[in-house]
Amino acid sequence: MGRCDSLRRTVPAALVATPFGDSVVLRVASELVRHAVGLVYPNSCIVCDTEEPPAEPLRHGLCSGCLRSVTTDPFPACPRCGQTVGPHVDTSQGCGECRGAAFAFDSVVRLGPYAGKLRDAVLRMKLLSGEGLADRLGRVLVEERGTAQAFAEIDTVVPVPLHWWRKWTRGYNQSEALAREIARLMGRSYDPHILRRARFTTQHAQPTRSARLANMRDAFRVRTGARITGKAVLLVDDVMTTGSTASVAAKALRDAGARRVAIAVLARR
Ligand SMILES: [Zn+2]
Ligand SMILES: [Zn+2]
Repeated sequence: MGRCDSLRRTVPAALVATPFGDSVVLRVASELVRHAVGLVYPNSCIVCDTEEPPAEPLRHGLCSGCLRSVTTDPFPACPRCGQTVGPHVDTSQGCGECRGAAFAFDSVVRLGPYAGKLRDAVLRMKLLSGEGLADRLGRVLVEERGTAQAFAEIDTVVPVPLHWWRKWTRGYNQSEALAREIARLMGRSYDPHILRRARFTTQHAQPTRSARLANMRDAFRVRTGARITGKAVLLVDDVMTTGSTASVAAKALRDAGARRVAIAVLARR
């Protein structure tokens, strides 16, 4: 436990890990508190606030516990859909989860499952104050998974866009920050304007895969004049749940001429 825990305790838990929907006032208050903590304890972990001794500079801004959790995927994952699979499963043709699913993307790279410290990191990144964290996690993705097949031959990096209203209420799009850093480190082009969210989609869980796809249909448009014909696109998001959103976005890119679409996410539910 770090010394700044007493300060953190003055902040309601909802401010530390705030899902979409909290007021802008609460977000600004949360950000101010986090800045204050950072000024007083500059060597504290950007995910859990644990303070490390000044003699031990934090790698990626993470304490040793968070670094281990965020960089180490405890399970094998299906290279086609990113889902956790058993230790001896043959995933050369996909896994049991995706073999019958017509995903419009070719592959998925993830840091790990949506749990533990990685989940904490993703939730904190959604706050306006999480933009620096998004940069660092983008770097972790490249450094830890950059040799994956999905990263090879990528021409351009594109974030999954938020609807403008959601982006306005959240303050920024965490997937843009992730994608920008990934593109910079990979030396590839970055274009946050290729895809746009054509309409607001509800975040309520849909009971079936077909209902989810119906909910997402036509949710994305490729900007007129975007030159992606024949290109390999890396589509970046923070979390993949069912793959429906990524697939609909990938289909829009494919329909506009993209040769292949790979997905990079921090976490897979
Ligand atoms: Zn930590
Ligand atoms: Zn799979």
